[in-house]
Amino acid sequence: MSTTSIQQLLKQETLGKSDLVALLSADETQRKLLFERSAAVKQEYVGNKIYYRGLIEFSNLCGKNCLYCGIRAGNRNIRRYELTEEEVLAAARYAWENRFGSLVIQAGERSGAGFVKRIELLVRQIKALSKGELGITLSLGEQSEDTYRRWFDAGAHRYLLRIEVSNPELYHKYHPATRRHDYQARLNALYLLRKVGYQVGSGVMIGLPFQTVDDLADDLLFFREHDIDMVGMGPYIEHENTPMYRYKDQLLPRTERFYLSLKMVATLRILMKDINIAATTAMQAIDPMGREKSIRAGANIIMPNLTPSSYREDYLLYEDKPCTDEDAEECKRCLEARIHMAGGQIGYGEWGDSRHFASRKK
Ligand code: SAM
Ligand code: SF4
Repeated sequence: MSTTSIQQLLKQETLGKSDLVALLSADETQRKLLFERSAAVKQEYVGNKIYYRGLIEFSNLCGKNCLYCGIRAGNRNIRRYELTEEEVLAAARYAWENRFGSLVIQAGERSGAGFVKRIELLVRQIKALSKGELGITLSLGEQSEDTYRRWFDAGAHRYLLRIEVSNPELYHKYHPATRRHDYQARLNALYLLRKVGYQVGSGVMIGLPFQTVDDLADDLLFFREHDIDMVGMGPYIEHENTPMYRYKDQLLPRTERFYLSLKMVATLRILMKDINIAATTAMQAIDPMGREKSIRAGANIIMPNLTPSSYREDYLLYEDKPCTDEDAEECKRCLEARIHMAGGQIGYGEWGDSRHFASRKK
């Protein structure tokens, strides 16, 4: 598509599938126009505040075997861990004292009674120690309605569950053919989360083998169709000890995967103007300035890592994961400077809930 046509597209009120494909296919000159437009939309609808979600990678134990993930159950080459209650509460206290506003507790997927109970208790303890001030997002995979409700009643109010890829045929290429890796079950979990009352986040990986720009446009339409409140998406990055590593030579070069991801962020900001969009760690794994570039292109959420540094190396979802050797203090200082450089202002002490959620509740 010509640059003039892209300019026209960016003035349109609504975007259809072919428009999204054109925006995602923008060349170097055209993508600058796209990023200018998405930055303007961001400023108008969500402002320049960036909200922190301190990330606690609670455990790398996982009962699943997603074919792309470094902490899948089948990877015998990693040391498995689960943080102690003290370690989680110390990270939460750090977040609270540093006015982070919110936390994300993320882990491999487990659903045993002990695990469910530990999370429930931790959520209650974090709420208590922060006098209700820390917002809590969970990212613990597919669970029953009862479990989602227990965690919600304990005080968690947002949940991240990436659909990973919205095309069911592709989904089955990246997951083993077992009942535990079922597309419909994942989709249903998104409905359950909404029913229970969470602000619902989802997302996809970008640059997966066999995935086309057409598929990515469908992913964006999926978020709109399901009225998702927040999105975290980023490049797929290969990991040596996973079955999908065998496709490593068929992938787009990493820089292209990165720019495709930036275009996804920018196009999504234009498509769903008032949602929360995360500048994900995987962006920074490819480009040291990846998260800042995401912020400029439309993201408004960042997840500084609060996992104790001795465990960081064990939560390696993919190669070259950044900040595995930094402690929380270093991470905070470096982020602050980077966000200011990207023209953002940190919403210290604020939850920064999705405006989209607020308006869909009205
Ligand atoms: N276990 C939970 C789940 O799957 O929803 C939450 C933790 S899981 C590690 C968080 C996300 O990591 C997944 O949703 C997936 O998109 C991402 N991820 C896993 N392997 C990846 C890879 N090789 N490249 C990029 N992202 C990856
Ligand atoms: Fe487990 Fe989540 Fe990794 Fe799948 S993506 S293997 S559920 S941690």
